[in-house]
Amino acid sequence: MTVSASLSAALAALLCVLAPAARAEEPDFDKVARGLVERLRQGPRAAGRIGTWRDEPRQVWIDANTFRGPFGLMLDSSCVQWEGTKAGEYPAKFQSAVYEMHRKVQECAATRGLPSTVGLIYERMPQTRLRCDAKGCPNPDPTVHPAACASAAERRITWKDQSSYPSAATLFHELQHVTAHIDNQSTVDHNHPALHRLRDEAYFWEAHCFDQEGLLRTLRAEHERRLRAAKLSLSPPADLRKVYEAAFDSCAVPLRYQVRDHRIVFNAREIESFCRPYADYLMMEVNLKRQLTFGLMPLMTGCSARDPIRCPRSELRDPASAPAKAAAEAGILLPPDPAVYSPAEFTEWTWKACYKRYPNESESSPAFLLMDCSRSQRAKLDDPKVLEKLKAAGLSDEDVASLKAFNELAAAKAEAVGEGPGRWETFMEKGNGESAVKKFVPAVLARCARPDIKETSLCAELRADSSAIHLTVQLLLHWQPKTLPR
Ligand SMILES: [Zn+2]
Repeated sequence: MTVSASLSAALAALLCVLAPAARAEEPDFDKVARGLVERLRQGPRAAGRIGTWRDEPRQVWIDANTFRGPFGLMLDSSCVQWEGTKAGEYPAKFQSAVYEMHRKVQECAATRGLPSTVGLIYERMPQTRLRCDAKGCPNPDPTVHPAACASAAERRITWKDQSSYPSAATLFHELQHVTAHIDNQSTVDHNHPALHRLRDEAYFWEAHCFDQEGLLRTLRAEHERRLRAAKLSLSPPADLRKVYEAAFDSCAVPLRYQVRDHRIVFNAREIESFCRPYADYLMMEVNLKRQLTFGLMPLMTGCSARDPIRCPRSELRDPASAPAKAAAEAGILLPPDPAVYSPAEFTEWTWKACYKRYPNESESSPAFLLMDCSRSQRAKLDDPKVLEKLKAAGLSDEDVASLKAFNELAAAKAEAVGEGPGRWETFMEKGNGESAVKKFVPAVLARCARPDIKETSLCAELRADSSAIHLTVQLLLHWQPKTLPR
């Protein structure tokens, strides 16, 4: 099964329920698990791979009802029909899901770190039985439809949703419950998707290993929420230390939250080892955003002597001037002159010029907003009614021609940035690796070879400095999966 298939299945299945019968903690550890937990108490848990787990050599039907699969995890005969096989035949879907889970967990531990508590899943697998029951997982809330559920006390996972069987991510999630050491929320809060998902540790590790894009989306949204709540600005002079702390805290929530008794809590150093990479990553995004807004945006909306057009006369770019006011009344809004505008003024302009298409400015990157606004402004300049109003306000044919040329050029420049450094939001976290980076830089520079923007100050800057490209490349490389040591 591919990762994306198991992921979408896991997402579609919404969540899985920790059966109410399960106890929060468990005193009777087996010897190995006790040793692991002892090590947790002694030192940081983030280091390297979580053990050198080897697969059990033999996978067999040990009796009519039980298949012993990879890592000793037992499959109940109730799942045979969901496998599409007959009793006694080899359950290949189950086997590949367990191996897929193992591969992801090992890769995750090696590249991003995992606590040893998560390693307990390997201790639990030989004692745990996976059964399939479409009527399983009773939940008091009828609006919640779990894919699966787990009982730590009975070492049992029940798969309820046949369409997602046997997703590797959900299997991992349920095995976390079986360890009885990862749940940090009350069962009620864990089981309800609308309640405090962000502070849930089981969901955190699941996303950390199986859906990093999703985790970054969540962290980015939480970071932005915190910045708004604390009224922290990204415009100069921003307090970047506080911006960083807000990013770090967005990640640390599930590792700090704790309502379960006898559960080992993370110390500050351990939280740092897991959250610093996420905070660093979010700060790279912040820096790129700042670079785009305060470094490149003025070059996109500006009109310099290098540009291959005649710039609109200065009165047209002064919102207080009579011709600019008349143009605005006719629906033609020019982006504020970068020599004088503030980021707030630019935001206000995008709202006014693009309001109907973009009620929420965060939906799109500033470059794409500018591109769409400039194109729609350009289109309006072909409307005879608009032209009539502009003429009545005293704008000459030459003024109109300069406005058309200006908007065309601004759209072309914005497109070059939007398709280049501005694409960070759409592909950064995929970590496409070195080959993508090698293609990326020439692709950005190739856009600047287009005749209409080749000579602009924007492209001169991109060619000479490339700091926005450099930041983008850093982001691209950041999550590149490292090769696992053998
Ligand atoms: Zn769960």
